[in-house]
Amino acid sequence: MGPLSLLKGIKSKKIMSWQNEFKDALKTNEDLEKFFDQKFSKITYPLFIPRNFAKKILDFGPDSPLWKQFLPHENENLSVGGLYDPIGDRLHAKGNQLIHRYDNRVLFTPTTVCPIICRYCFRKNELADKAEIFNQNFLEAKNYLRANPEINEVIFTGGDPLILSNEKLAGFIQEFSEIETIKYIRFHSRTPIILPSRIDEGFIEIMTSAKLLFKRSMIMIHINHLAEIDEYVEAAINLLTESGIEVFSQTVLLKDVNDQTEILAALFTHLADLKVTPYYLHHPDQTLGAMHFTMSLEEGRRIVQPLHNQLPGWAIPQYVIDIPGGEGKVLALNSEGFEFSGSLINRHGKKILLK
Ligand code: SF4
Repeated sequence: MGPLSLLKGIKSKKIMSWQNEFKDALKTNEDLEKFFDQKFSKITYPLFIPRNFAKKILDFGPDSPLWKQFLPHENENLSVGGLYDPIGDRLHAKGNQLIHRYDNRVLFTPTTVCPIICRYCFRKNELADKAEIFNQNFLEAKNYLRANPEINEVIFTGGDPLILSNEKLAGFIQEFSEIETIKYIRFHSRTPIILPSRIDEGFIEIMTSAKLLFKRSMIMIHINHLAEIDEYVEAAINLLTESGIEVFSQTVLLKDVNDQTEILAALFTHLADLKVTPYYLHHPDQTLGAMHFTMSLEEGRRIVQPLHNQLPGWAIPQYVIDIPGGEGKVLALNSEGFEFSGSLINRHGKKILLK
């Protein structure tokens, strides 16, 4: 059987487990107040927490990194200094599920749905509004990729692509594999951490088939703190790595969540032990409704630099910052000093003054 027929035969094999968990999630202030037995401020953004994960948050308690990342806070209603679209997605959106910011690669946004709603999310405003950047038009997306042969990588993002069914994902992969210039496929996902049973046999088959269809295919797990890993998450990650699937991680540096060198070192060491390669550590974006998670570049540099004394080079992720206004990601460390001069060099070598 060839790789394409492998994909065509894929069905969702664990039909109701993670899907049921998803349907039964906490979605309103009333749900939260009943579950956590306390009052929460009314905020303007949506809520969504699967109950199993909510139990985990409850066990860790109100001062925990889980509580701070996923439970609503009155500071989300503050607007001072925050941007609706901090990384300029809308400037680069093509109106066809694609965001084309860098010459060689595109973001593909097949869904606005997530396994949980992270309070710090940089796309929280666009997701809450189901903004135009998520308009679905797959035929146009394929035409765009064919017309722009310099694009060699498609990055599935959203929302969270692993919320889609295996049939749907297999269909997309098959379609992309028919575009000769697409060599690499990447999934960005928080789902293995929040709903680990989503990593089912069907998804493993998809990723295994993708290895035959593309030069490289990989999954980039979004994880911010060691507390997010339990035996189920480890089992899901092991299933991926033992199946020969390339697994990387991305982490967001967040005030009062993981803003200590030791916390980051413990996370990246554990990921490395699980055979996950730490890839990106994002400086927090200036997001409307999430400014309470931000810190200065100088503070971030002071936290990140000592990792070089505690981890092997291959276990240290690239510390990056997205220059507001769609200028793209650049390295955030400055080996000449911690102080921030006020401007950064963008991907075209141009100096951008940050306000
Ligand atoms: S899963 Fe990702 S896209 Fe969804 S809310 Fe969290 S950070 Fe944002």
